[in-house]
This record gives sequence, C-alpha cells and structure tokens, in this order.
Amino acid sequence: MLIVLLGPPGAGKGTQSKKICETMNLFHFSTGDILRNEVKEKTEIGLKIESIINAGNLVGDEIILEIVKKILKNELGKNKGILFDGFPRNFDQANAFESLLKDMKKQINFVIHLSVDQHEILKRIEKRQIDENREDDDVKVLKSRMNVYSNETMPLVDLYEKKNILKTINGMKTVEEVNNDIINCLK
Ligand code: AMP
Repeated sequence: MLIVLLGPPGAGKGTQSKKICETMNLFHFSTGDILRNEVKEKTEIGLKIESIINAGNLVGDEIILEIVKKILKNELGKNKGILFDGFPRNFDQANAFESLLKDMKKQINFVIHLSVDQHEILKRIEKRQIDENREDDDVKVLKSRMNVYSNETMPLVDLYEKKNILKTINGMKTVEEVNNDIINCLK
C-alpha cells in the first residue's frame, strides 16, 4: 500500500505518520527527516540546502527526486507499504512521482489530507513563542512555510480529489482522535 500524507506545517504530520506506520506496518518515508539529516551530517547536499530549509522554502525538485528514486528502488521490492510524509510538495513532484510509479507498475492508494485551520496554528505558535520567550524568527519561518504550502502544495488536494483517492481528515482533534479517524478511513 502506498499512502501520501498531506497537511500544512504544524498539522501533526510527523506524529501521525509514526502512528500510522506502526499500526499498518508501513515504511515511514519523510523527506524532511532525510534532508535534516543531510544538514546535520554536513554532506554536500546538506550544505547546499541548509539556508533553503531555514528560510522555510522548498528544496529543488532535482535533489528531492533523486532521494525518492533511491527510496523507491530500495523499498518497493520489500513486502511493506510506504507512507510518504512531506512528498510530493508541488505539481512537478506529483507528476514525476506518478510517472516513476507507473514505470514500476505501482500507484498511490490513498492521499490523506490533514485539514487544519492555519490561523489557529499560527495563533498557537505565536502564543507559545511569547510564553516561552523564543526568538521571533520561528514565527516568520512558519509564516513562510505556510505560504509555500498554500501556493505550492495545497493545489495537490484538488489534483488527488479528482483522481478519487483523497481522504480529508479533520486535524483539529486530539492526536488519538485524528489517528483513529485516519486508520478507520484506510480500512
Ligand atoms: P517537513 O519536515 O516535511 O516539514 O520538511 C521540512 C523542510 O524540508 C521543508 O520546509 C522544506 O524546506 C524541505 N522539504 C521537505 N520535503 C520536501 C519536498 N518534498 N520538496 C521540497 N522541499 C522539501
């Protein structure tokens, strides 16, 4: 089973991904985790992308698609499905993904769209910044990530709805409730 998880920053994608993968025995493929590791390890790619990630922008498609190809090659043969957390992020990635899967005679089974009120998330994060006296910078980066999400990733919701594989889940409930809703809709 191949599942894509879509949702704005702060929607709880990482938390939900881990839970879904445990319950459904899926391989958790997070492009964000892989990229952060490249930065941490100061690899050639890591040095190139650090400022892009820190500004809340998208890393170039070429780099992302290389990572995706490697993972598909390694993981698709195994007897385990994959949960794509943070990929695809724009139309070009979605199209490239579709043709890669087509070549491998595979297709996405479901796209889970975690729907959350972006204003509410921003309010929560801003409050947390004040309460915890953190630097203002994080809110700026979050705003930029939200804009990128609205402009580049959100249109994929329509794309997958038209393909009849979209499942929209209300992400404003508790972690457990959201998880139950996701698992139920995948059954
Ligand atoms: P995430 O942990 O999924 O929120 O990703 C953290 C950051 O990694 C994003 O803000 C982007 O800078 C970068 N990133 C993750 N996935 C992608 C992707 N599919 N395409 C481009 N950039 C990505």
